Amino acid sequence: MADGSRTRRIQELLVALNRAGVRDRDVLLAIAKVPRERFVPQALRPFAWDDRPLPIGLGQTISQPTVVGLMTQALRLTGTDRVLEIGTGSGYQTAILCELAGWVLTIERHPALATAARRRLVALGYRNLAVIVADGSAGWPPAAPFDRILVTAASPGIPTALLAQLSPADGARLVVPVGPPEGQELLVIERHEGQLRRRSLGSVRFVPLVFGPRPAGERTDGPAGDAR
Ligand code: SAH
Repeated sequence: MADGSRTRRIQELLVALNRAGVRDRDVLLAIAKVPRERFVPQALRPFAWDDRPLPIGLGQTISQPTVVGLMTQALRLTGTDRVLEIGTGSGYQTAILCELAGWVLTIERHPALATAARRRLVALGYRNLAVIVADGSAGWPPAAPFDRILVTAASPGIPTALLAQLSPADGARLVVPVGPPEGQELLVIERHEGQLRRRSLGSVRFVPLVFGPRPAGERTDGPAGDAR
């Protein structure tokens, strides 16, 4: 993509983000900075700056930029936070978190996606993260508590294991899409004066959070995206 057209597409995306209610300057700067084309398969690069999800292989998708913006804004990162992310996928949202947080632990159940994401993130220079292959619905107790937790797959309910790993400090937040596969509500659960408060950021549609170990025979190879 020619530089001029890339710049124009980024500006158009910033307009879409603003319209969607993403106003946090640091979040907007991070989205403008992270090269989304590096997180999508080669053939889809012309669409990398469009405000839509794109397939990344294995039936998974890279999230829509305005949704990434809304979720990241809702986390209210401070630059020093320890963040747990469930559903690494392409690693795009992880990169945005790495820009704005202190350290990110991201969990992905598909080894091929995790490997591709790790390679991309390291190639882009991110060092403040760890990528783990596991069932993230159980969180990662050895590294708990976390200041912020972000789930980027649809959960049927608020995952209790994750709530248990949220920091006891005021301002700790869990952002999770909750509801059936057809559509979810994007919930923000925030610790405020010792109580958990919940609010909704509206409707979203994510691929499902899968619970439990991967069944033997599930496809693990294949087109995990050829982005470098
Ligand atoms: N945030 C990603 C998109 C995530 S798509 C991006 O920016 O590209 C949701 C991801 O969650 C998929 O990659 C899927 O494999 C993963 N996933 C689903 N259930 C999971 C689980 N229990 N543990 C870890 N990852 C899971």
